[in-house]
Amino acid sequence: MSNKQNCWEFKKCGREPGGAKVADLGVCPAASDSSFNGLNGGIKGGRICWAVVGTLCGGKVQGSFAEKRLSCLSCDFFNIVKKEEGHNLVMQPKG
Ligand code: SF4
Repeated sequence: MSNKQNCWEFKKCGREPGGAKVADLGVCPAASDSSFNGLNGGIKGGRICWAVVGTLCGGKVQGSFAEKRLSCLSCDFFNIVKKEEGHNLVMQPKG
């Protein structure tokens, strides 16, 4: 089990499967889309949430990276992952 935090663990958003806020807007795609599994050492899209379309940060459905770029690049969690991954940071999944 990696000791690297996933966004929902860091943000305590409650939007992961079984989370306290799932009834609100459903499960966040960052916590459910397995096509991102393992990127930056995360579970699902938990450590590449900026690249996941339709995430639920801030309690509203976010758009694509292009649309949420400003908030993601200034996000404390993004900056932690960037620091932890260093030059191995994956910004966007291949393909
Ligand atoms: S992207 Fe935001 S809302 Fe979605 S699981 Fe991560 S921290 Fe929670």
